[in-house]
Amino acid sequence: MRLREHVALCPGSFDPVTLGHLHVIERASNLFGRVIVSIGRDGLKDPLFSVAERQAMLEDSVADLDNVEVDTFSGLVAVHARHHGAHALVRGLRVVTDFDREFQMALMNRRLAPELETIFIMTDAEYAFLSSSMVKEVARLGGDVSDLVPRPVLERLREKFPPRT
Ligand code: ADP
Repeated sequence: MRLREHVALCPGSFDPVTLGHLHVIERASNLFGRVIVSIGRDGLKDPLFSVAERQAMLEDSVADLDNVEVDTFSGLVAVHARHHGAHALVRGLRVVTDFDREFQMALMNRRLAPELETIFIMTDAEYAFLSSSMVKEVARLGGDVSDLVPRPVLERLREKFPPRT
């Protein structure tokens, strides 16, 4: 298949990576020859995890996917994609609220890098309402997020928010 010769970039904040992100990354890795998951260094105002922590958690979470690598970027995603010679940007789509923002971003990225195609992978129903911010909020309040995040993230969340007694 032609896509197998292509490189996909999955940009995001990943503060932290969830099973929803991971499902999209796995499906992208089945389609594309090489997948680069790129953490935006200047996306979030007040992140819970440092970029280095987010990268370590992502690397642990994708360790069994041999065509997936993780890096970071500053500035425009279109410039970073060009730097890697990426053919596609892959984004996950959840409930309708994602659509507006994603549509605007895809159109802007097309202006900036017409050769780069944005591809949307529809989330699994199980993860349709899952977001990093929801995970952080529930974990902060002592709730169980063990079926929403990969194990390396669960461990780091327990360090940030020790179980309440
Ligand atoms: P950003 O700040 O760029 O939205 P995120 O880390 O929140 O970064 O998300 C990165 C990508 O993963 C986005 O395309 C987002 O829509 C997608 N995504 C986030 N959560 C899920 C989920 N539960 N299922 C599928 N895709 C998701």
